[in-house]
Amino acid sequence: MVDQQETEISFRDSVDHMVDRALATMDLAPDVAEAVKACNAVIQLRFPVKIRGKVEVFCGWRAVHSTHRLPAKGGIRYAPYVNQDEVEALAALMTYKCAIVDVPFGGSKGGLAIDPRKYERDEMELITRRFTLELVRKGFLSPSTNVPAPDVGTGQREMAWMADTYKHLMPEDINYTACVTGKPVEHGGIRGRTEATGRGVQYALQSFFRHPEVVSEASLHGSLDGKRVVIQGFGNVGYHAAKFLSEQDGCKIIAIVDRSGQIYSEKGLPVEAVRNHKLVHKTLDGFPGAEFSENGLAALERDCDILIPAALEGVINLGNVARVKARLIVEAANGPVTFAADQVLHERGIVVIPDAYANAGGVIVSYFEWIRNLSHIRFGRMQRRFDELRGAHYVDALEAVTGQQVPAGVQAKIRSGASEEDLVRSGLDDSMRQAFDGILETRASTEKITDLRTAAYVNAIRKIARSYLDIGVY
Ligand code: GLU
Repeated sequence: MVDQQETEISFRDSVDHMVDRALATMDLAPDVAEAVKACNAVIQLRFPVKIRGKVEVFCGWRAVHSTHRLPAKGGIRYAPYVNQDEVEALAALMTYKCAIVDVPFGGSKGGLAIDPRKYERDEMELITRRFTLELVRKGFLSPSTNVPAPDVGTGQREMAWMADTYKHLMPEDINYTACVTGKPVEHGGIRGRTEATGRGVQYALQSFFRHPEVVSEASLHGSLDGKRVVIQGFGNVGYHAAKFLSEQDGCKIIAIVDRSGQIYSEKGLPVEAVRNHKLVHKTLDGFPGAEFSENGLAALERDCDILIPAALEGVINLGNVARVKARLIVEAANGPVTFAADQVLHERGIVVIPDAYANAGGVIVSYFEWIRNLSHIRFGRMQRRFDELRGAHYVDALEAVTGQQVPAGVQAKIRSGASEEDLVRSGLDDSMRQAFDGILETRASTEKITDLRTAAYVNAIRKIARSYLDIGVY
C-alpha cells in the first residue's frame, strides 16, 4: 500500500465521505441514505492449506455491500496488504459502479492476504480451490447471488479454478459457468473481457472529449489526438488503456510507471514494445530511447494533460496533491485519489473522471459474460451469417439500382456480420457513453453539484434509492 499522510482517513472512510458529500446535495430521507450506505455482510475466512509439507493458514474476506439487485458482483484481489477495510470500501464502490453504468448487480468484493509471487502455480491452485470451497459453503459464491471476477493479483487462471471447483461442488446447477466472470474463453469466458477495463477507460475519455464544455473545464481543448498522457500502473488495465489511447486516439504516452520505476520520453513511448521489454526483463529499466528512474511515484507529479492512475488506492494524497500538474485525472484504479486530495484537486481546477465510472468497463463486460453463460450460447452465433447474407443482398440491390459496382472496401463493411467481440465492444461503448451523459445530466440537475465524482455518486444513489423505495425494505 502507498504511504499516505498519517492525518488521512482509511480507504473505506474516504469512500464514505465521498458518498456523504453526494448525499448532502440530495433530499434523501436519512433512513434510506443509511440503507444505501450500509455494508450488508462481510465474512472473514481462515483456512489451512498444506504447502511444501507445512500447514499454512490463509486469511480472506468477501464483503457484500448491496443486494438490491442480485447477484452481488465484484472482483477478488490477491495481495499481501489486503484487509477488511479495503475489501468493504471496494465492495461499496462496486455498488455505485454498477448503478452508474446500469449493470443490474449489487456490489461485492473479495480479498485474500497472500503474495502470489511466493507460491508455485500448483500451490496457487490448491489455495484458490480451498478458498472457493469456503466461499461456496458459506453462501458467498454462486451464479445467482454472488459472482466474483478478477482484480489485482488474479486473472483468468484463478477464475477457471474457481469455476471448476464450483462445478464439482454443484453439478446440478445448470448455470455453474456463471458463478465467476473473467474466465478463459475456452471455459465459458467472453471475448474482450481481459482488455475490457482498459477499453472502458478509453471510452470514458472519448465520452469526455465529446463534450467541449467539459473539456474546457479542465483547461484542455480539441480532441484526444496529441494529448500527453502519464500511465501509473502497467498491469492489465494500465497496459490496455495506454495501448488503445496511443494506437487508436493519437495520445502520446510520455511516461509509464510500474513496480520497478518509471520511463519517460517526450516523444511518446511505443506501448507494445514497452510491454515486451517488461515481459522479458521484468523491469522498465533499460528500455531504449527513454529515461528511467526508480522513483515511480514522482511520475504522478509530471507535467501532462492526462494522468491515469491504474494501480492501487491512495496514490494521490495530501502528501503529493499540491504538486500534481495534470489537467485531467482518470481513475482507472479503484480509489487512487483520497477524499482529502480530491477536495484539493477540485479547488485547483483539476478535473477527475471518477473510478466508479472510469473503470466500470470490467464489470460491464462481466455482465455480458454472465448473460452469455446463462443463455449458454455465444453472442452472434445465431445471427452473424444471416447478417452477412442480408449484407450481400443490400450490395446486390445497390448495384442493381445504381448500375454501378459497390467499391470492395464498402462491400466488405456492408457484408460483414458482427462477431462476439464486435458486439461486446459495441455494448461497452454504448454503456460508457450513456453513463457519461447520465452523469452530466445529474450534474446539470442541481447547482449544488460541481464535480463529476459527486455527480456520479448522486446518479448512482438516486437509482439505488429508487429501487429500495419501489420495492420496500424487509
Ligand atoms: N475487479 C473489477 C472491478 O473492480 C471487475 C469486477 C467484475 O467484473 O465483477 O471493477
